[in-house]
Amino acid sequence: MSKITYKRILLKVSGEVLMGNQAFGIDLDTVARIADEVIACAKAGAQVALVIGGGNIFRGLAGAAKGMDRVSADHMGIMATVMNALAMQGVLNSKGIDARVLSAIAMPTVCETYSPAKGIHHLEKGRVVICAAGTGLPFFTTDTGSALRAAELQCNALLKGTSVDGVYAEDPKKNPKAQRFEKITFNEILSRDLRIMDPAAIALARDNGIPVIVFSIREAGAVSKVITGAGRFTTVTKD
Ligand code: UDP
Repeated sequence: MSKITYKRILLKVSGEVLMGNQAFGIDLDTVARIADEVIACAKAGAQVALVIGGGNIFRGLAGAAKGMDRVSADHMGIMATVMNALAMQGVLNSKGIDARVLSAIAMPTVCETYSPAKGIHHLEKGRVVICAAGTGLPFFTTDTGSALRAAELQCNALLKGTSVDGVYAEDPKKNPKAQRFEKITFNEILSRDLRIMDPAAIALARDNGIPVIVFSIREAGAVSKVITGAGRFTTVTKD
């Protein structure tokens, strides 16, 4: 395989990706497919940290819209990210890969509690680190959690796997002629209000100088291609 561009990456996978073709929940075949992407990156020499969302199971905003108290609803969303993280850890372990779930909310009988030092230690030992429970706080998202963890774990890039192959000026599913960017700045994303990630996540990545790579995770081999600079993606940088 060609030389990798990024030695330590934070890969953000939304919960929806793990649904596969299901309407809800965790499709273990899809988890296995994403696990294979992670393994390919590790074999290429990259250190891999993962942040997995929870939208395939529960979103706090959906609960709040139905009258639930937002804090409890977000806590349910946070628990959903832990379920996804455990599924990924289980599949990676079954494939012979040492992976550790580190949760932002302490649940010591289930997994380790997140700390940046622990995360870096596992990464340096060649283990895959799965950061669960987002930031551990309601009113946040796992996008913001991924930018935070990328900064704390000193990652060289934040890889945002989506269902499209980069950043577009408009939703390419609605307008097939929408302009696609090879490169774009964080400030342009914010000023054009392009919702590839939350504005808070974009600002955090910008302020910490972490490039964000937006690519389609639906194509097999996409992640290892991206870390060698191949394939289709948009790079988001400061300038
Ligand atoms: N969440 C939260 N704080 C965090 C991360 C997540 O409260 O730091 C909750 C929130 O309710 C969110 C849900 O967990 O709707 C699932 O996370 P997210 O929506 O980011 O998942 P994704 O869209 O990536 O699947």
